[in-house]
Amino acid sequence: MDPYAEAVIVGTELLLGSHADTNGPAIGARIAPLGCPLRRITVVGDTDAELDDAIGRAAARCPVVFVTGGLGPTEDDRTRFSVARVTGRALAFRPDLMAHIASLMARFGREVPPSNRVQACLPAGADAIPNPRGTAPGFALEAGGTWFVALPGVPRELTGMLDDWVVPRLARRLGVRGFATRTVRLFGPGESRVGEAVADLMGPDRDPYVGLLASPGEVRVVITSRAKTGDQARGRVAAVEAEVRRRLGRYVFGTDRQTHAAAALEAAATRGWTVATADGYTAGVLAGWLATCGRPGYCGGLVLPAPADGSEPVALAAAARARTAFGADAGVAVVGDPLGDQGAWVGLDTPAARQAHRFRPGLGPEADRVR
Ligand code: ATP
Ligand code: MG
Repeated sequence: MDPYAEAVIVGTELLLGSHADTNGPAIGARIAPLGCPLRRITVVGDTDAELDDAIGRAAARCPVVFVTGGLGPTEDDRTRFSVARVTGRALAFRPDLMAHIASLMARFGREVPPSNRVQACLPAGADAIPNPRGTAPGFALEAGGTWFVALPGVPRELTGMLDDWVVPRLARRLGVRGFATRTVRLFGPGESRVGEAVADLMGPDRDPYVGLLASPGEVRVVITSRAKTGDQARGRVAAVEAEVRRRLGRYVFGTDRQTHAAAALEAAATRGWTVATADGYTAGVLAGWLATCGRPGYCGGLVLPAPADGSEPVALAAAARARTAFGADAGVAVVGDPLGDQGAWVGLDTPAARQAHRFRPGLGPEADRVR
């Protein structure tokens, strides 16, 4: 049978409804293209009995078991103990990991609390998975025919470790020699429109494998290929990317980790423009994105109190005000009442044109702001 994986997601708050699990889907999206799909996600609380049961059963069924969460230094972080018990390994203190934790703490001017010592303990024989974004390293352990991969619960740390460490090693374990992936990012059409446009390129057993991910304001087309060599995989991905662009190119704003904000500043820069903003409807979201996207050319932004009424003249006046206030070439404003039902007006005041566009609401205030 083809290999497959299961994930055990640890956290009592997940069961209490404080937040929803995003780690299971993040793992599933990354490993399916390797030919090792996630077949089951089990969510358990922070108790030894539940963890031992879930991890033990998953390991009895399948060759790759992910565990996320519960690697912290506190009493309710039980994952390392459970994996050690299920695999019959002792926990071993690793001075190299302790040195890393101490150096991170020192960067924040802190001493290492004694409780952090446990984070440097891994089941004997495990490989540490580096975590540049946090203190808790993860670990991977081969035992009894199963590969256990334990990662921290914090989504940013987890996704970074999957991309940097786990996915390349899993690909190697599965004998995938050449692997390539490309994300094409689109703004405008909804997921179903994009899905219809590329339906004939999709299918569970196709290579390149084409998947869609939708979030407010964006649809991502993720193209991945497994092949004999990296060049061959990259060539296949590039051919599908070209086809996606041929069909949907006018909606494509970027690729891979390029954000809307970075793409917008790059587009402005090709015209020699700098940009300023006025956030009414968006309450500073736009300013935050542009200021932190890592590209030059953003001069600053005004955050206008909500509710600001939305209309074409209000949007154009706010865009002009932002442009003047920061001495920018182009001003962009988003005005309107985020809690009302009239949606937003986007005003553009640039050397080329003064225009306003209306965006209708529909997803609720949080998501509509992002969209
Ligand atoms: P660690 O392994 O780093 O100790 P943990 O599971 O103990 O992680 P918590 O302290 O419970 O982590 O949560 C840290 C943060 O990570 C919280 O903000 C929580 O919302 C988030 N988080 C933890 N697990 C998940 C998950 N499965 N899906 C989404 N967010 C999660
Ligand atoms: Mg914790």
